[in-house]
Amino acid sequence: MSKKNDLSQYRKKRKLDQTPEPEGKQKKTSPKPIFVIQLHDASTRHYDFRIEVNGVLKSWSVPKGPSTNPRDKRLAIQTDDHPLDYAEFEGVIPEGHYGAGTVMIWDKGTYRNLKTGDDENQSMSMEESLKQGHAAIWLDGQKIKGGYALIRTKKSGENQWLLIKMDDQEADARRRPVSTQTKSAASGRTLKEIAEQENN
Ligand code: MN
Repeated sequence: MSKKNDLSQYRKKRKLDQTPEPEGKQKKTSPKPIFVIQLHDASTRHYDFRIEVNGVLKSWSVPKGPSTNPRDKRLAIQTDDHPLDYAEFEGVIPEGHYGAGTVMIWDKGTYRNLKTGDDENQSMSMEESLKQGHAAIWLDGQKIKGGYALIRTKKSGENQWLLIKMDDQEADARRRPVSTQTKSAASGRTLKEIAEQENN
């Protein structure tokens, strides 16, 4: 699994002339770093959580999606870096291709790095936080807001992390956004509508 910012695995696994996924032109549109959570109805349905770090989207596959309850520890498996413009991808990856299935932009927005370094006046870079296996970010999305910790678990290999809601004013043990807010943050469409409309 790539630890540096590296799109080679992304490109290697795809025939980019045969899938609607972006090639990765690295365009930067927002002054603040972005995040996206894509619902991916592949062979196993999961949520792809991606945050912009140094020109790429650092990515994790979160089987159950994010929780707003600080008591939940959501498994997050780090996957290949993706190009920045992947954050705008919503559509259908054709049968027979890597990750075949429908992709919905379930949530999107910007984030802030909450981590301070040894000198408390200076924030630790996201890259350094991820290298150390403990990042803390504030998400400003449409569905997901507030602080989240990303913690690498040492036991089960280097790609396994936990995504945990911090206990702040946005924490809510009763909300179940992945079950109750099931439409696209980009287009308002359901997974089924995306599948039908993009498959023609
Ligand atoms: Mn995926």
